[in-house]
Amino acid sequence: MRIDLHAHTNTSDGTDSPAGLIAAARAADLDVVAITDHDTVGGWAEAADAVRQTGDGITLVRGVEMSCRRNDVSLHLLGYLFDPDDAALSEELSRLRNDRVPRLRAMVRRMCEAGMDLTFEQVEAEAADGATMGRPHLADAMIRAGIVATREEAFAAYLHRRSPYFVPHRAVDPVRAVELVRAAGGVAVLAHPAASRRGVVAPDELLTELAQAGLFGLEADHPDQDVEERRRVRALAGELGLRVTGASDYHGAGKVNRLGQETTDPEVFEELVGGAGCTVVEPQGGVA
Ligand code: AMP
Ligand code: FE
Ligand code: FE
Ligand code: ZN
Repeated sequence: MRIDLHAHTNTSDGTDSPAGLIAAARAADLDVVAITDHDTVGGWAEAADAVRQTGDGITLVRGVEMSCRRNDVSLHLLGYLFDPDDAALSEELSRLRNDRVPRLRAMVRRMCEAGMDLTFEQVEAEAADGATMGRPHLADAMIRAGIVATREEAFAAYLHRRSPYFVPHRAVDPVRAVELVRAAGGVAVLAHPAASRRGVVAPDELLTELAQAGLFGLEADHPDQDVEERRRVRALAGELGLRVTGASDYHGAGKVNRLGQETTDPEVFEELVGGAGCTVVEPQGGVA
């Protein structure tokens, strides 16, 4: 069983459509893939239809990656198999998405003041209809304008968190996010908790708080975490009674991460599914 529990589509900042993600999962020889776009469930229906219609052995886990922050530490919470109609969670997700628009407008304004020739409309044109917008779309607009050659270069030179052009977006407290996911019947896993190359990581005390709030697991095997960081995540999970997962954080052509490059143990996956209020989507009609 090959199980990848973290992947993006063009419903946020990935480049594959949701149906394209299912095709890519098949090409990567996966058995299970999770769709975890930033702050949205907008890709769920298309991905589920692709699984039902192509009926080719892919099991879909419907999820989300929520933007969280505590004291300037940015965290990402993966929520899986929750009720998408839960009012409190869906209202928070739409607040998170909506706030990304004025935030990107502010970043574009700062870049224009510095002499760059960019408009918010150019950024908007890089995102699929209704997609959660983010810095990667701004990077794509800069590529099209000939300012940089790749997303990687855009982030390194202009879009990183310490850049004068960087403006933060709304994020929820991670304990609140765990509570929202759990109240909606879902299972919560903290994404890349020790990825120091992404910025300041959460202190152990915060992970203890999250465990007490009902967190299920920590993502240990993630492309942004080195061997030592993965070891620390495993040790901490052991201490806190949490499970560990592995996943690629695939973004299509938007990142070098390959689908299925990191995977989750089947026993952990079974436990995750067993703890959730909603079921996975399987080919041939096995759908809740
Ligand atoms: P935002 O959600 O607008 O704060 O942008 C964060 C997103 O940018 C992350 O989810 C990543 O997908 C993407 N990202 C961050 N750093 C890089 C990078 N160096 N190259 C490409 N994409 C990146
Ligand atoms: Fe992303
Ligand atoms: Fe993330
Ligand atoms: Zn992600």
